Amino acid sequence: MKLLFNRVFDGADEMLAMAEKTLNETVKELGEGAPLAMPNTAYFLANHLAYLGKQVKTLGDLKACFEETKAQWNPRNQRLADAFKTGFGTVLAGEVVEACKYARSPTPYGEGDNREYWGHMSDAEVRELGVPLVTGDIPGFVVIIGPAPTDEEAAELIKGYQSRAIFVFLIGGVIDQAKRMNLNMNFSVRVVPVGPDLWHVAHIISVVNRAAMIFGNVQPGDQEEFDDYTFKRIRAFVNAYDPVPDLTVAYGGGAIAMGFPVITNSTKDVWPVPKSLIIQKDTKDWIETSLEARDIKIKVTKVDIPVAFSTAFEGEIIRRADMHIDIDGSKGNCFEWVDTKEANEVEDHKIELIGPDIDTVAEGSRSIMGFVVEIAGKNMQKDFEPVFERRIHHYLNYAEGVMHTGQRDLIRIRVSKAALAAGFRAKHFGEILYAKLKSDYEAIIDKVQVKIYTKPEDLERLKAEVNKVYLARDDRLKSLTDESVDVFYNCILCQSFSPAHVCVVTPERLGLCGAVSWLDAKATNEIDPNGSCQIVTKERVVDERLGIWEDVNEAVQTASHGSLESVTLYSILVDPMTSCGCFECICGIETTTNGVVIVNREHSGMTPLGMTFSEMASMTGGGVQTPGFMGHGKQFISSKKFMAAEGGPARIVWMPKLLKEFVGAKLNATAKELYGIDNYVDKIADETITEDAEKLVEFLTEKEHPVLQLEPLMS
Ligand code: SF4
Ligand code: ZN
Repeated sequence: MKLLFNRVFDGADEMLAMAEKTLNETVKELGEGAPLAMPNTAYFLANHLAYLGKQVKTLGDLKACFEETKAQWNPRNQRLADAFKTGFGTVLAGEVVEACKYARSPTPYGEGDNREYWGHMSDAEVRELGVPLVTGDIPGFVVIIGPAPTDEEAAELIKGYQSRAIFVFLIGGVIDQAKRMNLNMNFSVRVVPVGPDLWHVAHIISVVNRAAMIFGNVQPGDQEEFDDYTFKRIRAFVNAYDPVPDLTVAYGGGAIAMGFPVITNSTKDVWPVPKSLIIQKDTKDWIETSLEARDIKIKVTKVDIPVAFSTAFEGEIIRRADMHIDIDGSKGNCFEWVDTKEANEVEDHKIELIGPDIDTVAEGSRSIMGFVVEIAGKNMQKDFEPVFERRIHHYLNYAEGVMHTGQRDLIRIRVSKAALAAGFRAKHFGEILYAKLKSDYEAIIDKVQVKIYTKPEDLERLKAEVNKVYLARDDRLKSLTDESVDVFYNCILCQSFSPAHVCVVTPERLGLCGAVSWLDAKATNEIDPNGSCQIVTKERVVDERLGIWEDVNEAVQTASHGSLESVTLYSILVDPMTSCGCFECICGIETTTNGVVIVNREHSGMTPLGMTFSEMASMTGGGVQTPGFMGHGKQFISSKKFMAAEGGPARIVWMPKLLKEFVGAKLNATAKELYGIDNYVDKIADETITEDAEKLVEFLTEKEHPVLQLEPLMS
């Protein structure tokens, strides 16, 4: 019998040898000066940056690092107690092999969502995980290394995790099995076919290490802190199917050293068995065993529908060819409306369909539908209606085979042929809304009933009524300003990943993730006053222009456990609000124009700052204040309080075109009100105009951009 430690060492030896060979061949072919970069990241080769503190930019840099890797993690020099740490060297060696592929081509596995393997994941993808991780929408990660004994078993395991919202990474032959079983795989449905070989694990560890740097502000080179972060904050684990070669054991050792348990059905040469290696011969029990091993508790809401229901399906796209029905509010009368009622007006769990069902229309038809969700509750407030109404979008998307976009009267819902065949009908929309609203807001909602309308005459009549409600709500929202309310709220949800970060949420400044408005925070506080959103009073004002209150500072000091002394709500230069990492947009000052450049996470191109989103984003995060850079939500751009201390939205000189379109109407209205300027957005440059700072000045001058009249940002 071979001891487990020796298997780790042999596997590591094998990997280091392979990396050395690949590296030498690549250097010979491309030369030491050849540039080396993973796509769409500001963290170079993230594992090398994390463990060695080195920014690898060329093949020559990589070669120098590799000498260090061999010296530090030479299996033969390890103390037995640290045997599993050899896994770090194995991860670095894996990153070497993969980096050599990316040195030859930026897209070694193809491009876009349909690429053969996912390979490297972008910083934007890592950041996308922030909010679902803190809300528990993604309760954990599994790395499945296989093939499984049969294709069916592979699919069952993957779907089992997916339906529990666990994020799934696949390595090896299990990917082909999933393909044969026609599973939908990509980052947005949270099943990622990372790569066919064991060393593709390096891409997964790269995500984990970037999360530590982005959200946790862990400093490059601080190996112990990376260990500590992954162990405490990343709920990941590994499922490895028998047979398990030494190479897998070496990577498994690394996983264990990072605090990720390994569950396997392999029993050969597994001794001594460390605590985090769990042998579970019955692979049918893997999900339960794994969740228990990593202490993951899944909150399940029982929803009575005939298709799977999980947050993992939120990103599912239903193409025209796969859809049975396309409910489209831009082509006909549709709406969704949450309305407050008295207790005696609501019969709990009553779901009514008024009109023909979705199976009565011809396959591929366009159709119309309206939802009235009536809520009664002792703690219900009119102000919560839009909060709950916005949840409809998320909830309906969680159903497999249902895609929902838009809101109010501009909704669009597709139901797939597969969902219809499984028995999904209109009443199931009601079942979903009932179950989720009741379970997520039980402290507020006592009773829910749902009416679903499909007859044109009803929809026409009701839409006219609902439009009046929307208008009244807009007026109410407009009247909600930072000055008109008595309290703000803080949000500390992101502290589970970014322990020092606090968002202060005000009516005119939503949380930087874009998901928490002042009304959302108010509803969250109503559910649990000691939970993630707490009341922040605003009685002792220090500086109105900068937005400083003594009470806000005290609240921030307490919530950040002393990391933060003072924040301003309206300045990007003086004590700006911190960022956790999951911001929708980042803005940074552009010194030649005295303005700011804003980029949203979806934009991967260059900006006039000479930095991409990822690079700008890496300037701030981890709950640290970085004057000159600020993470924020998309909606904040059109707020009168955006950089109000420095002149407001008039400072915006550049944004990606799509972001301009997204915020255009509201930003134009704000600029008209503040500065009397018409069509302000046309004065802001974008990537189709220039990505160059000098040309930017020319453009702004030609357009008479208001920033030219403002004082210099830096004196
Ligand atoms: Fe995180 Fe701030 Fe959003 Fe709360 S409001 S979830 S702390 S980013
Ligand atoms: Zn966050």
